[in-house]
Amino acid sequence: MIDFFVQKRSEMVEKQLMPRGITNRNVLESMSAVPRHDFVPPALKKQAYDDNPLPIGYQQTISQPYIVAFMAQAAQLKPTDIVLEIGTGCGYAAAVLSKLVKKVYSIEFVPELALEAKKRLHTLGYSNIVVVEGDGSLGLKNHAPFNAILVTAGAPIIPEPLKEQLAINGRLIIPVGEHAHQKLVRITHLDQTHYQEERLQAVRFVPLRGEHGWQA
Ligand code: SAH
Repeated sequence: MIDFFVQKRSEMVEKQLMPRGITNRNVLESMSAVPRHDFVPPALKKQAYDDNPLPIGYQQTISQPYIVAFMAQAAQLKPTDIVLEIGTGCGYAAAVLSKLVKKVYSIEFVPELALEAKKRLHTLGYSNIVVVEGDGSLGLKNHAPFNAILVTAGAPIIPEPLKEQLAINGRLIIPVGEHAHQKLVRITHLDQTHYQEERLQAVRFVPLRGEHGWQA
């Protein structure tokens, strides 16, 4: 079974990531290393490396592998970076990010998912990830500024607190818009008053909830 997953994971990297423009060596290495099958419900393990999101309960999903890799690459991460992820879900993207940076803070709105992810990441030995239960649309002021913020749920507009919590040169990667029409956007904090905004690609994420989200 171990060999089956190792094989599936290398196929995922070779067939889903490399041909679609994931070229960052560190991102490819991290995607090759993180055991995605340990992040999905037991009944879905065999499908863990398929080219799509999967349900994880509580009406939430584990993101498609390609999208996790694309966001990690778009965030232009460095080993010294402190990163905030919004929408822990099962903790998969946090695990991928944790291999690329110094420390990952990850916020999850659904208390049960936050607790499960915390336990799972601890069991799997990820020691530089802190999972926090709460409303990530407000960011995580106590630990700001962040070199990168990755939002894995679609926001109606770009939440102001997230821009404010970006370090200078910090990157915010966020899906914006209604479910069927979301655009993944990268905001770069250029200096005290200037931000650069780039549209990256069309995406489909579950809705961001909370104060700067669609609903509480
Ligand atoms: N990053 C995950 C994807 C999770 S799906 C992965 O690696 O697969 C998006 C998650 O965002 C869901 O678990 C949802 O509960 C959570 N979410 C939605 N609104 C949120 C908010 N305001 N703050 C924190 N998490 C939120």
